[in-house]
Amino acid sequence: MKMLALAACFLALAQAQPPVQPPQPRATVIRAGRLIDPATGTAAPNQTIVVENGRITAVGANASPPAGAEVIDLSNLSVLPGLVDAHNHLALTYKMEPENNVYYLTYVMDSTALRAIQAVSNGMQMLSSGFTVVRDLGNNGNYADTALRVAIDQGWVPGPTIVNSGIIIGGMGGQFTPSPEMAKDHNIVYPEYLDADTHDEIVKAVRQNILFGAKVIKVCVDCKPYPYTVEDLKTFVAEAANAGLKVAGHVQTKVGAMRAIEAGFWSLEHSGPMDDEVHKLMANKGIWRVGTETPFTPYRGSKEAFDRTVAGMKNAWANGVKMAFSTDADYYIPGMTRGEVVINFLLSWKASGIPAKDVLKIMTTNGYEVCDLASKRGPIKVGFPADLIAVPGNPLDDLDALRTVSFVMKDGLVFKRDGVMTPEKFLHGGPVNGWRIR
Ligand SMILES: [Zn+2]
Repeated sequence: MKMLALAACFLALAQAQPPVQPPQPRATVIRAGRLIDPATGTAAPNQTIVVENGRITAVGANASPPAGAEVIDLSNLSVLPGLVDAHNHLALTYKMEPENNVYYLTYVMDSTALRAIQAVSNGMQMLSSGFTVVRDLGNNGNYADTALRVAIDQGWVPGPTIVNSGIIIGGMGGQFTPSPEMAKDHNIVYPEYLDADTHDEIVKAVRQNILFGAKVIKVCVDCKPYPYTVEDLKTFVAEAANAGLKVAGHVQTKVGAMRAIEAGFWSLEHSGPMDDEVHKLMANKGIWRVGTETPFTPYRGSKEAFDRTVAGMKNAWANGVKMAFSTDADYYIPGMTRGEVVINFLLSWKASGIPAKDVLKIMTTNGYEVCDLASKRGPIKVGFPADLIAVPGNPLDDLDALRTVSFVMKDGLVFKRDGVMTPEKFLHGGPVNGWRIR
């Protein structure tokens, strides 16, 4: 009876509401001094890009703008698609104080809620540096990565398009070395890692991640002295494929890399164990190399490690391995944003000797492919979401042009203009793109 009265009350309220006004169509015209197509390594002068309702509706020298469209003049800049970091952890930031850069302690000290808010901030810092897509591969507490992706997709906050893995799945202990008390009570290892040691546990772990919003499955292939077998790894691939997802494998030994290749993983993360033999097998099977190539800087790395990293990049390139720009930049360097830490990985790519136009393709076209987004997002083409950036100079010749991103548009909304972030239009009081996005 009470319920009925309540229902009637809601009904009356609903009938009293005026009909919701459909949102006004937004049209924007961008005048690009130079429009770069990284897929072909070419540029066209004086192009016009028409954006309506967040999508590109026309591109060309003579594209005609709709009446009343807002004009954005980028005629003294190069316009290009947004950049991709294929390996980051936006809800993790470890640092010198207080944890002495031991990320084990970050998990203990920072709640998932705090890390989710931090992820929003890191996402904005990435977007400001021109990264419109980030593949986020775990170490995000209790699914802070899913929360970030949903908040961006629903229209609460600005940020890159997130392709997230949920919790990293590994043999017992993950990347931690927990004490028996910690491991058995699962109060420390979980939620950073999902233990999965048997066939059934692997299936369950993959399904849990998909249920809680993962868009790619991340596996610790060989983080422990008991690496997964090829059969184990094939179980990951099959179970992920059953839901249309790809599998990314963290590898730190050659045995692990070889097994992941044999099992048909989509991508291998971290270049450490990749030698000439591994690269040849990866090229042969078309497996992505997400190398996370850390540069040698005053704040990080060593000359020896850097020399090995660069030699590995040269070898991968010579072997025709599919390469992605990736960083694993999950730490705080005082005075630098997350985006600035990430773009400084250009140092590694420049040292590799790979031509600038090819590196630009790796940072864009390859990025959309490794994120499994290429049919949905990335290129500046009619029908695609309007994600684009602008820089002075020409990054086809000089990659350092990418260090000065002065304009960023995401989904047709201007995030940065004349070098200044202007995110107001992204911030909504409700889910403007629908609450059903999960
Ligand atoms: Zn990582």
